[in-house]
Amino acid sequence: MTRKFTTQILHADRSASIEHFAVHKPVHTTIAYGYPDADHLARVFKGEESGFVYSRQSNPTTAALETKITTMEDGLATACFSTGMAAIGSTFLALLKAGDHIVSSAYLFGNTNSLMGTIDTLGCQVSLVDATDVTQIEAALQEKTRLVFVETIANPRTQIADLAKIGELCREWGVLYVVDNTLTSPYLFQPKAVGASLVINSLTKYICGHGNALGGAVTDTGLYDWSRYPNIYDTYKKFEACYWGITQIRKKGLRDFGSTLTAESAHKIAIGAETLALRMDRACDNATALANFFSSHPAISKVYYPGLPAHPQHALSKTLFKRHGAIISIELTKGHDCFAFLNQLKLVILSSHLGDNRTLAIPVAHTIYWEMGATRRAEMGIDDSLIRLSIGIEDQQDLLDDFSQALTSAGSE
Ligand SMILES: *Cc1c(COP(=O)(O)O)cnc(C)c1O
Repeated sequence: MTRKFTTQILHADRSASIEHFAVHKPVHTTIAYGYPDADHLARVFKGEESGFVYSRQSNPTTAALETKITTMEDGLATACFSTGMAAIGSTFLALLKAGDHIVSSAYLFGNTNSLMGTIDTLGCQVSLVDATDVTQIEAALQEKTRLVFVETIANPRTQIADLAKIGELCREWGVLYVVDNTLTSPYLFQPKAVGASLVINSLTKYICGHGNALGGAVTDTGLYDWSRYPNIYDTYKKFEACYWGITQIRKKGLRDFGSTLTAESAHKIAIGAETLALRMDRACDNATALANFFSSHPAISKVYYPGLPAHPQHALSKTLFKRHGAIISIELTKGHDCFAFLNQLKLVILSSHLGDNRTLAIPVAHTIYWEMGATRRAEMGIDDSLIRLSIGIEDQQDLLDDFSQALTSAGSE
């Protein structure tokens, strides 16, 4: 019988042979592994036997976390990285060559948007289109398109990509489909269900959840046929074809570029992952209550939250995701200064992070989206007064009280 989400994560370590019957995978801080005989060492190097050779590439504590993420995403295999950006960057650098083309969303996470610019200067052409509209993705596809990269819920305006239709399109075209699942997390959504080939998670966000470790992961869902991908190096073709992609991402991203997750961070993330479902349910409950409160508040002119019936992709969100997530963006009515409002918050923290247990707020145009300039911000629908809120797991009434008093005080100034 297949066990459910949280049960599987809680007991994942014990399903493998574990040192001294510990209930958690221990933290292995070793860098090197000493083999008693040369044959054994050589077999591990050649990939003929499983084992560890050097912790830049693999480590038992990280491997245990990789197994958990694979379980959470119902995937085939996972490679973990030092950060979410390292996971995305390693995937691109491992799989793309100059002359390739990729299609992505115009509403990307700021740092991923910046990375797209870097990829472009390295000789890969990037088309950024409105991913809520599958016809725009379709129109952008070319003969040399290698992959389509989309996020589930866009940050900060919460647009939802037409994930299932994009999946069908990628399957028809034989194009790799990469989905960044960070804002939903595998508890709310498994991109495999819409045909994703690779799933990216920034482990720093909901999966860790406690704001105390950085990490990223790439999971191969097993759906893509790597024998048709043109950029696999011959040396990785000796394994079964289903492992070619994740092997190349691991070898390039970890061995060559060295964007390795530390064992200490892997341990903290694994502990966080145990309560992902509990935290996510609570954060989504809080987000729903706050979105409703904001919708009827006179000081707020706009509320962006997929759980509200007025959200343009509300129906899509209901079909795709278990809950509507815990990111809300708001704009204040004229006469209300967004900095004055933020300065009145007593409980909510002014911070650029998201997916934390604590509720966080940030004026995005003045901070995380400042570098890209006013023109690009206008294209992305980011108003100067837009505030992004990452809702945490505090007691609901305390959050309602804090936002309520801040809105009242900011309005009376
Ligand atoms: C934060 C984030 C990332 C990057 O993750 P880091 O761990 O901070 O490097 C990537 N994608 C999305 C959608 C994010 O929110």
